[in-house]
Formats: sequence, structure tokens, C-alpha cells
Amino acid sequence: MPRVAKWLGDAMEALIPSKMPLMEVVETNYISPKIKRIRFQGNLSGMSFQPGYAVLIRVNETEFRNYTVVFNDVENGILEIIFYIHGQAPGSLFIDNLNVGDEIRISAPRGKKQYEPTIKQHLIFGDETSLGLACSFLPYLKKNQHQFQFYFELDESNFNVPQLLGLENYSVFSKNDIFINRQLINDLPIFNSPDWNTSHFVLTGNATSVQNFRHVLKSNSVKGRIFTKGYWLKGKAGL
Ligand SMILES: Cc1cc2nc3c(=O)[nH]c(=O)nc-3n(C[C@H](O)[C@H](O)[C@H](O)COP(=O)(O)OP(=O)(O)OC[C@H]3O[C@@H](n4cnc5c(N)ncnc54)[C@H](O)[C@@H]3O)c2cc1C
Repeated sequence: MPRVAKWLGDAMEALIPSKMPLMEVVETNYISPKIKRIRFQGNLSGMSFQPGYAVLIRVNETEFRNYTVVFNDVENGILEIIFYIHGQAPGSLFIDNLNVGDEIRISAPRGKKQYEPTIKQHLIFGDETSLGLACSFLPYLKKNQHQFQFYFELDESNFNVPQLLGLENYSVFSKNDIFINRQLINDLPIFNSPDWNTSHFVLTGNATSVQNFRHVLKSNSVKGRIFTKGYWLKGKAGL
């Protein structure tokens, strides 16, 4: 639902305020010039959060964008999101301009089940837009002693961001390199390791890369579950 009429956006906020609580920006932090982590505080009572769940944020009168919740503490009304400010687009501009003390409405989190507690191995792929998802998975992966691997395709200026976020077991790839080329994906070491055949794969970020990676997994007859969710697509507003 990236775009709605203004009256509908207003009605959603007015009629179901408990589903779109007012949240105050209490902390902002640029992890790199284009990656901004924001902590919000408000009333989250009754909300249920799962790793990888996303919220909708109204970024102007008629547009909404999806973002993944990194961290939440329902009791104290806190949630955090890691935003990629990719360019001069409504969501990026809105987020870049948010400052401590600003108040915005954020929807209740929702999504499909992405974390699979019963599967030993997890491979999580994405780009800058998936860093929040990776951070939301990490505590579960560690607590439940999974074997896990993160694959990130990033702009060179963000190569050190996974480290700054405290992520572990990650490999970083250049954008417009491996994941635009199915043959190069097929050459990734993971395909030489039979152990990974039954992994749980979570593929998010650039919809084209997600589609390519999924295609190669399928053509290698991978037996594990593959969860895919393109977070953005070149030339398309919101997803
Ligand atoms: C379930 C879900 C969870 C998401 N979680 C996050 C999150 O935690 N953090 C986050 O930053 N984003 C996240 N996204 C992605 C984010 O919603 C999109 O990138 C969105 O398009 C940004 O809105 P915008 O107004 O800045 O750009 P838009 O107006 O939507 O896009 C304008 C154009 O910019 C280009 N574009 C859009 N996104 C990108 C990008 N990331 N990189 C390069 N070019 C791009 C496209 O060509 C597009 O046509 C998520 C998306 C979904 C569906």
C-alpha cells in the first residue's frame, strides 16, 4: 500500500489510533552518511513483534513506506528501525529530516513468519534495507545456537556497517556484482557445502537480486525453506 488518497490516510490514523500509535523520536544516529538508526518511544501495548516484522510509516500526505523493526521493548514503549537513505525519494527525505522530539504515527508490526526456530542452519541475504532484519534475527540465532551466515550486498561506503552494528558471521559483496549474475551466485561457496542444502533461507532487499538468488537455489534443488520478500524494485515506488 505505498500510495493512498489523503482522506484515506487521515482516516486510518484517526479511526484506528491504537493501530497507528504516535511515536516520538528519542534518539537518532547515523551509522554511515546514508544509514540512520532511530529509536522511537510511544504506547506499544497489545502489539506483537516477531523477527523481521515490518511497520508502515506515513512519509507524506499520500504515501506510506515499509520498514523493519530492529529492536522492541513493548513494556517501555521502545522500538528501533535502521533506515537506508538511498536518494531523493519521499521515504528517504522524510527519514533524513526526522529529529529528536518529532512525533510520527507508526503502524502495528506485521509480516509472515520468517524465523524458523526448529531449523539448525539459517542463511540470510539482503542489502542495506535488510540490516534491520539481520539485527532483529541475531539475538534469536545466537540464543538458540543456530548455525548462521549473513550475506550482504552493499555500497562500498557501507562495507563496515555490519561490523558497526555488531553483526557476526557475515560476508559482504559489492552491489551490481554477484547477485545480478546467476552464474556467479552459483559459484558461491555455499553451493559446495551439502550441509547448507537443508538450511532456512531468508532473502530480502533488492527484488531483482532476491529473484536471482532464489532461482539459483531452486535450480540447485535446495531442500530447505526459502522465504523471499523483495523490499524495493528499481523504478517502482514503495513495495
Ligand atoms: C517488508 C519491508 C521491510 C522493509 N524494511 C526496510 C528497512 O528496515 N529499512 C529500509 O531502509 N528499507 C526497508 N524497506 C525498503 C523501503 O520500504 C524501500 O526502499 C522504499 O522504496 C523506500 O521508500 P522511498 O520513498 O525512499 O523510495 P521510493 O519512492 O519507494 O522509490 C523511488 C525509487 O528509488 C529506488 N529505490 C527504492 N529503494 C531503494 C533502495 N533501497 N536502494 C536503491 N534504490 C532504491 C527505486 O528505483 C524506486 O523506484 C522495506 C520494505 C519492505 C517491503
